[in-house]
Amino acid sequence: MNKTILITGGTGYIGSWVTKYLLEKGYTVRLTLRDKSKTQKYQHLIDIEKSSDGKLEFWEADLLSEGAFDKPAEGSDAIIHMASPFTLRFKDAQKELIDPALKGTRNVLCAASKSSTVEKVVLTSSVAAVHGDNIDMKELGISEFTEEHFNYSSTVSHQPYSYSKVLAEKEAWKIYESQNQWKLVVINPSFVLGPSLTISSNSESLNFMKDMLTGKYYMGAPNLMFGFVDVRDVANAHILALENEKAEGRHILAERTMNVYEFSRLIKSIYGNKYKLPLMQSPKFMLYLVGWMFNLKPKFIRRNVGYDIKLNNTKSKEKLGLKYTPLEKTIEDMVRQMQESKILK
Ligand code: NDP
Repeated sequence: MNKTILITGGTGYIGSWVTKYLLEKGYTVRLTLRDKSKTQKYQHLIDIEKSSDGKLEFWEADLLSEGAFDKPAEGSDAIIHMASPFTLRFKDAQKELIDPALKGTRNVLCAASKSSTVEKVVLTSSVAAVHGDNIDMKELGISEFTEEHFNYSSTVSHQPYSYSKVLAEKEAWKIYESQNQWKLVVINPSFVLGPSLTISSNSESLNFMKDMLTGKYYMGAPNLMFGFVDVRDVANAHILALENEKAEGRHILAERTMNVYEFSRLIKSIYGNKYKLPLMQSPKFMLYLVGWMFNLKPKFIRRNVGYDIKLNNTKSKEKLGLKYTPLEKTIEDMVRQMQESKILK
């Protein structure tokens, strides 16, 4: 494959799988990272490169520095823009979540326009850009979320991570409309799980699974519904979006939806009593009392706990051709990797 792909966030949890697949397909991968001296963040990718037909290049670029992506964009055929902080542990939402997501998207997409070579941008958005609170489905009077919907209920003080994702995606569509050099394809994954190629990521996906298996929810898990999708399927969706000339618009990715307590029962059905899984489903009134222990604010509890959601994944299957890994296999492969990495006993 004689093509060069620039990827931002390629060192992260999802990005490492995308980088691996690109290298295995023989692409030249230009990976941007904040600090080249932190070799532990990308040594696993150098190891993958050695046994692949692809070529890996490293470029330093911070989402917040204007013009930082101009040089790596020049000479790239396409960009996968994935870098964005995915953390619920922050002090200043504006500085730590919203600025890097929004300014980063502006920086990266403007670099695509300034280049003479970029023909496609694949943006990693989220279902958080499709909907904010679970109650939104009821408020809108709809029976499922589709690619038509945009999150209207998040703000800088209420669900700021989701707000950062919807602002960034809307900005991407705006910049796309202002030019005619490159095409934009957007991937909107639900909550991503599955084995990690890196132990340096601080992704909430990895924190959640560790918390679930080590007893953080032992006294009770909330009736809080999510969509779930395997990290390898998310990586595949990015490759399909990149390579399929007809790919366009947004793509919701979810293998299924279930609440956190049901998810814990699914783990129990595979591993029995091996892990300290939740004893019961927490009643909503109890969450108002103990929610602070899980970083759940009253407004979040009120608008999310106990409300079902449905995510329509038809477009990802029919237009991208994505095949979903069953959640049971996702769990088994993730637990095995966590044991091998000594994160779990
Ligand atoms: P990770 O934390 O593992 O990856 C985030 C990546 O973004 C890292 O490579 C990180 O680089 C980079 N990054 C963060 N801030 C900056 C910055 N200021 N400048 C340059 N790079 C930066 O998270 P995930 O892999 O889980 O998430 C990747 C993407 O997928 C994000 O856009 C996230 O919103 C999205 N997503 C994730 C979901 C999930 O469930 N995990 C679900 C839906 C969407 P560094 O190594 O330098 O820290």
